[in-house]
Amino acid sequence: MIQPIPYGRQNITDEDIQAVTEVLRGEYLTQGPKIAELESAFAAYTGAQYAVAISNGTAALHLCAMALGVQEGTRVITTPITFAASANCVRYCGGEVWFADIDPDTFTLSLEKTRALLESKPKGFFSGIIPVDFAGLPVNLEDFRALADEFGCWIIEDACHAPGGSFTNSAGESISCGSGTYADLAIFSFHPVKHIAAGEGGMITTNNESLYKHLLRLRTHGITREADLLTENHGGWYYEMQELGYNYRITDFQAALALSQLKRADAGLKRRQEIADRYTEAFAKAGIAAPLVNEGSQHAWHLYVIQIGNRKALYDFLRTQNIFCQVHYIPVHLMPYYRQFGWNKGDFPLSESYYEQCLSLPMYPALTNEQQDFVIQSILEFLQA
Ligand SMILES: *Cc1c(COP(=O)(O)O)cnc(C)c1O
Repeated sequence: MIQPIPYGRQNITDEDIQAVTEVLRGEYLTQGPKIAELESAFAAYTGAQYAVAISNGTAALHLCAMALGVQEGTRVITTPITFAASANCVRYCGGEVWFADIDPDTFTLSLEKTRALLESKPKGFFSGIIPVDFAGLPVNLEDFRALADEFGCWIIEDACHAPGGSFTNSAGESISCGSGTYADLAIFSFHPVKHIAAGEGGMITTNNESLYKHLLRLRTHGITREADLLTENHGGWYYEMQELGYNYRITDFQAALALSQLKRADAGLKRRQEIADRYTEAFAKAGIAAPLVNEGSQHAWHLYVIQIGNRKALYDFLRTQNIFCQVHYIPVHLMPYYRQFGWNKGDFPLSESYYEQCLSLPMYPALTNEQQDFVIQSILEFLQA
């Protein structure tokens, strides 16, 4: 019996273990120096000015929605093809989630559908847009920025799938995912299936200094110790809780793990690209279309998604071979929780037909060529049967 092959998994090296145990033997378990080290390394990696490490990607989204002022009645647009957290962050703050359908080629939030939705309501009706770099394909945020500006909206880039990804803007510049060039805020996750594992963990990046400072406060209960922000000062111990924040901090040993993993991010991305190329080449003859990559873009290959008519039969067959594929995603608007707001089957036909046929194949740097060949051979065997 061969080892089970999941669709994604972490890769932990001896250096990672050493980085974590060093912290465990040291002075700080949480709020230690590794957090700031991770933040500055991650800011450098994405090209953003500021980075705030958070306990997980979902909490990062929540704080972004808070910092941008989402509250009851605030309306925000996102894609149905994403993890529910991209939408849930709006609900945490009492706002309304609206959806626009996906682009049929890229499977990311459609610029045209988003424009049509914005134009269908008076200006000011919507406050924000949350595009997702789905599967690792960078959204063209230059286009979304122009649209958002026209309608007075902010942008949160959900870049959980895309550390290391980039696209080329109209000036021919390479724009990294999470660089803060066009989006107000971007978020990442350090969940084990993502590029950088910390157990749990997340990051917000931005070029906006006031949002950055606000996020630092919100991450730790809404508390500040900054002298010039205090309304009184009783002495060295004094701090003020100036608004309702949370404890969304990451621990120092998680930060050490993420930092150690970040050092291998480029190598991991290179390996993901190789795996993607091998799938694409092997399936070309079998008539399985490769995921689209825009010219001038670096796809980050969090997922390698194929479209297949008899998806359930293939999924079940691969399970018998100990290959555990996944489906990304069941459209968020069809979740029972979101249906209560009136969303229904048929609302977003492109997302729904994408969902009927999508399958995410094993994709992670530690996947060996032999394992991948077995996956490919199993799929081809299924197609020929
Ligand atoms: C993983 C993921 C999240 C949530 O991240 P967690 O760290 O698991 O909370 C949000 N959005 C997308 C698109 C994700 O893939």
